[in-house]
Amino acid sequence: MKKKTVSKTEETCCRNISQYLMITLLPLIIIGGYYCPKIGFTVLGLITLFMIIASKRGRFYCGWLCPMGAFHERILSRLSLKKPIPSLFKTRWFRWALFSLMMGFMTFRLIGHWGDAPAIGGVFRLMWIVSMTFAISLGLYFKPRVWCTICPMGSLQGISSTNTYLLTVEDSCVGCKKCFKVCPISTYPGAFREENGIGQVPSVECLRCSNCVVNCPKKSLSFQDKLPGDK
Ligand code: SF4
Ligand code: SF4
Repeated sequence: MKKKTVSKTEETCCRNISQYLMITLLPLIIIGGYYCPKIGFTVLGLITLFMIIASKRGRFYCGWLCPMGAFHERILSRLSLKKPIPSLFKTRWFRWALFSLMMGFMTFRLIGHWGDAPAIGGVFRLMWIVSMTFAISLGLYFKPRVWCTICPMGSLQGISSTNTYLLTVEDSCVGCKKCFKVCPISTYPGAFREENGIGQVPSVECLRCSNCVVNCPKKSLSFQDKLPGDK
């Protein structure tokens, strides 16, 4: 079985750099978009980018490139109280209810402004402002990336990559829970361990950030496409 390994240096260095670079898109879209609404179309470009990435690497965009996620992880984390993420946010119905609500709102606004390019750009910018407002409010009290557990765009990537580049848990896992402690969205990979087998974490539950992979003392974690015979 070919195992993809990620060194700690790669994680801390490359991911830090990519996240700090991507954070610069936030003022560009939110402040720049006020003066030039068409900048809002950058959001459409990012949606296209993450859908392409999701087909090969699951929610890798969330873990490494999302400007909002990067902001919460690198900046908001300095102010956050880091309380545990409510279990409600991990339920499927809650995620999809929020998805339907936000996508419905966006579609309604887009139809209302159809044919008016600056106004459509403004709708994409507005969706970022709404998301950021919710995400910062929640992230100040709960773990800073709490929004990433319910983000509609994260859910979309999750269902687009159910077989792709999944976090894989070998039975060498000893249940020390270090992976849970370092996970920005409170996923516990060790819970997916299978006796005498290989377990895999559902795509939507994992940002592919590699924090747990590089911190697992037993080297039990790696990324692999869905294994044959897996549920
Ligand atoms: S850190 Fe590794 S050994 Fe510990 S619970 Fe997680 S997967 Fe298992
Ligand atoms: S399960 Fe591991 S790779 Fe996935 S989001 Fe959590 S820490 Fe990152």
